[in-house]
Amino acid sequence: MDNLKEFKTEEIVNLLKEGKVTAADLTDSGICPTCFNRENNGVVFGDDQDKMIYEDEKFACFLVGNPRAEGHVAISTKKHFKDMMEIDDETCQEVFVIAKKMMNIIKEVYGSESVYLCTMCDGPMNHFHLQLIPRYSFEKRGSKNFVKERFEYKEDKEKLSKLRDKMK
Ligand SMILES: [Zn+2]
Repeated sequence: MDNLKEFKTEEIVNLLKEGKVTAADLTDSGICPTCFNRENNGVVFGDDQDKMIYEDEKFACFLVGNPRAEGHVAISTKKHFKDMMEIDDETCQEVFVIAKKMMNIIKEVYGSESVYLCTMCDGPMNHFHLQLIPRYSFEKRGSKNFVKERFEYKEDKEKLSKLRDKMK
């Protein structure tokens, strides 16, 4: 694959739709898949509104499509920041206040014993986000909870509507 940066946006959109380009290809070309997805109607990851818990002009808070635990949530900024080191102090404060609120709600709605927080900063093109990963009482404590095996997201309408109500 040639560097996608030389392509027009609509050409990349078509290549994605045809399955000839993946999110990883965008990353390798220095294009942020998260931003490209947001700017082009979910063409990379599909419509994620079914997993959205809370959204405002700066942040999106949603259930992860390939979670490591029931109730695994991600919070991302709408603006592109490579990682936490790049965010301004105001955004830093705001995102942690939202994370704290969300973690308490996850604990309450899913009945987890605790909720872990981590932020990844992978590769040449990362989009800042926080991951909130519940740990349940039947699970061992410790950092292995950050790398629990991923599984396919299944919608739980009741829990989702509770999350949304409490995050309002
Ligand atoms: Zn981005």
